[in-house]
Amino acid sequence: MSGTPTARPGGARRGRDRRARVLPARPGTRRVDGLRPTTAVVGGGIAGLAAATALAERGVAVTLYERQPYLGGRVGGWPTRLRDGSAVTMSRGFHAFFRQYYNLRGLLRRTDPGLERLTALPDYPLLHGSGLRDSFRHVPRTPPWSALGFVALSPSFRLRDLRAMNPVAALPLLDVRVPEVYERLDGTSAHDFLDAVRFPRSARHLAFEVFSRS
Ligand SMILES: Cc1cc2nc3c(=O)[nH]c(=O)nc-3n(C[C@H](O)[C@H](O)[C@H](O)COP(=O)(O)OP(=O)(O)OC[C@H]3O[C@@H](n4cnc5c(N)ncnc54)[C@H](O)[C@@H]3O)c2cc1C
Repeated sequence: MSGTPTARPGGARRGRDRRARVLPARPGTRRVDGLRPTTAVVGGGIAGLAAATALAERGVAVTLYERQPYLGGRVGGWPTRLRDGSAVTMSRGFHAFFRQYYNLRGLLRRTDPGLERLTALPDYPLLHGSGLRDSFRHVPRTPPWSALGFVALSPSFRLRDLRAMNPVAALPLLDVRVPEVYERLDGTSAHDFLDAVRFPRSARHLAFEVFSRS
């Protein structure tokens, strides 16, 4: 996905939740002065690369340790051979980066200011073995409309499944107040919660298992 973020009134940026509040970091030195400290970062996935970049930019001498012969971790790709000897590239999955990943976009901009290496996609479709197709294209961006819109548009939520749900028990699914919602639900397993609301089985796979496995 490409494009530079557009400044909006009030300092909001495209892709960032309009209600997001910026909490300034505690004051500290922007760069390390004096004797240059050294540090090790273990793991060259996105997290390790981001940490190493931020530390190096502040003057720390960073050694990055990665046990694989390639960087990127779960976003990495590497050449390999099929049984018939043909050369292919192996990657671990479909990598679409949503526009609201502003930290990742900020990291990529260090070497690609216009984010030209990203390619805009019209949709992030999920194709089920049964032939059903879920799409995020027309889903509203703001909670709780995003969740309601997804349910309304998704073929994984059939009308009869929705009718069978317990609407009162399901209300916390629309509750985005933090930390209240954590305090209320932290002692309940997702399995028990979804059973209590009679969350449709087919949609349970889509909403929770696909992404938790990856
Ligand atoms: C199939 C699949 C599809 C995905 N699709 C998407 C997608 O479309 N969009 C999206 O946003 N996210 C997607 N994800 C999730 C995303 O890839 C991960 O959240 C992200 O890459 C995790 O980055 P990370 O740096 O935290 O961890 P990793 O990428 O796991 O990095 C950890 C690194 O640490 C190294 N390491 C571990 N232990 C040691 C050690 N002892 N010494 C040295 N090195 C070590 C590992 O080799 C690895 O390189 C997908 C994940 C999978 C598996």
